[in-house]
Order: sequence, then structure tokens, then C-alpha cells
Amino acid sequence: MKHWKKITLSVLAILTCSITLYAYAVTHPTNAMSHKACTSWDIVKHKAFQLSHTDYSNQSVLDRSTFKIEEGTATEVPVLMYHYIEPKLNNNQTGNKSIISLEDFEQNMKYLHDEGYRTITLDQLEQYVNGKLSLPLKSIVITFDDGYQNNYTLAYPVLQKYNFHASLFVIGSKIQDQPSESGPAINSFISKPEMQAATDVFEFNSHTYNLHHKGFMRCGNSVPVGLDTRLLDEDVQQMKQTGIDTPYLAYPFGYTSTQMIYKLQQHGYRMAFTVKPGFVHPGDDLMKLPRLTVTTGTDLAALLQPGSSPQNELPSSEDDQ
Ligand SMILES: [Zn+2]
Repeated sequence: MKHWKKITLSVLAILTCSITLYAYAVTHPTNAMSHKACTSWDIVKHKAFQLSHTDYSNQSVLDRSTFKIEEGTATEVPVLMYHYIEPKLNNNQTGNKSIISLEDFEQNMKYLHDEGYRTITLDQLEQYVNGKLSLPLKSIVITFDDGYQNNYTLAYPVLQKYNFHASLFVIGSKIQDQPSESGPAINSFISKPEMQAATDVFEFNSHTYNLHHKGFMRCGNSVPVGLDTRLLDEDVQQMKQTGIDTPYLAYPFGYTSTQMIYKLQQHGYRMAFTVKPGFVHPGDDLMKLPRLTVTTGTDLAALLQPGSSPQNELPSSEDDQ
């Protein structure tokens, strides 16, 4: 009996210590240890959120144990991620992973064309992940983040030449009413007339309306403001008012959370992309699909090799721009 009393007391003491440590860490996220504790606390909170929101689901509609991929069709699909395109001559920021030279981009597209790749839409990709659509081998998705004007002035003609399709994840608040008159400047964004003129190649999806910046504090780090889910309701409405009413989204900087996914799903979003490297498969979590970063000098053939591990040469999973 005495023995049990001792154990109970010890357990109680450990529990009290842990709770105190967590409480301290959450309120004082300053050093590495408290940061770790804060992160674990975050995980516990997410689990509790999932358990208390029974309508939250990250379960695929597809039963992986019985699902079989049709023979001779794609077992996985790469989703390429581009940002900003610039002719080699103008490019002074060679180390910037968000830039690809126009020359490299042209070579990428020629390679895909010569190798017999077929670009698919996000609607087709969603059906593929849900197991409702088989895709030809060498199916691929091309995406651009942020919605720069050079996606229209430089990428669009190349894509059009090869009959390719691509998705632009645009930041709603950055869309211009008219194209800039002095020609595309560095970091200038696409305009409404340009978007309308490019619908034969591009589909337009969400990179949020105005949540593409950091400033929300979590565990002592400044993270994208979209993780403060109180901002999401209004942002989604503003995006819809811009005319971009889509169920597809790319997370700013690749960051997401259980709460954010729940909110987005409530607003009708069905598929979303991170910047975590990897290929997409039937049965994957639709709200956390991976993408492959392509930048100046990327060996596209190696990147697209089945079973390749592109992680080594890529930026960290949350290093979008
Ligand atoms: Zn971005």
C-alpha cells in the first residue's frame, strides 16, 4: 500500500513539474528548451482541437488498402513550383531560390515537351488524389506562386507554345487594375486584363488575399499571419470579391496548421499546397500536398526521377517568398 502511495505521489510531482514547465515555456518562449516545450504544447493543442471538432477530417475519401492504380497509369504526379522569372542578363540575385532565369525556364518547358509530359489541371489532380481519375504516365502540374507580372509577359508565351497549362496562386490584394505602362518592373504583379488574356493557359487560385506576410508570434517566432485563424474569414471573403472563387490554395510561405485547415475547409477549400518536397499520390492528404521547387540551375531530369530525394538541394520546407 505504502509503495502505491509513493508511486502516486511521484506521478503527481512529475505532472505538476511538467505543467509548470509547459506553462512557463509557453509564456516565455526564449531559449531552445522552452521553444521545444512550446512546440510540443502546440502539438497537444492541435490534437485537442481535432478531438473537439469532430467534423474535422484529414482522411482521404480513398481507401488505400483496397485501391489499386490502373496499370500503365501514373503512380505519382510531380507538382512543380515556380515564382519569379527574369532574363539571365537582368538577374543580379543568383542565390535567390524564388527566381528562375527565362533561359532555364524555356529549357525546362522544352524538356517536358520533348519527354512527352502532359500538364494537368488542379481539378484533374484533385480527382486523381481521390482515386476517381487515372492519369497518363508523365502527367505533371505546373504552378507559380505570388502572381508576378513576368508570369504573363515571360512564362505565358513559352507555355502557350507547348500547349501547356499552369496554375497561378495569386495574392488577391496585389492584383493590379491595369498593366504597368512602363513595362514589367521587378516585382510588379499581374493585372486583371492580363489575367483575362491568359485564361487559355492559366487557371487562377488563391495564395490568400492579404495574408502573405509574417507577424503572428508563435513559440517566439514570427510566422505568417494566416496562422491567426481569426483573420481568415474576412480574407476568404475578400478573395471571393476579387473574383477568385476557388477551392484550391497555396499556403503563404508553406505554413499551415490544423486550425487553419479546418477554417479553410469550412470555407469550401478542398485542396492546398505546401512547399514540402515530394510527389503527389492517390490517397494523399489533400490539404497538405507537396511540391517540387524549381530554380535557376535545377536539374529537372534528376528532380523528376521517380524515387529521387530532392530534399537536399531545396530550401527549407517553409522558405517560400
Ligand atoms: Zn508566396
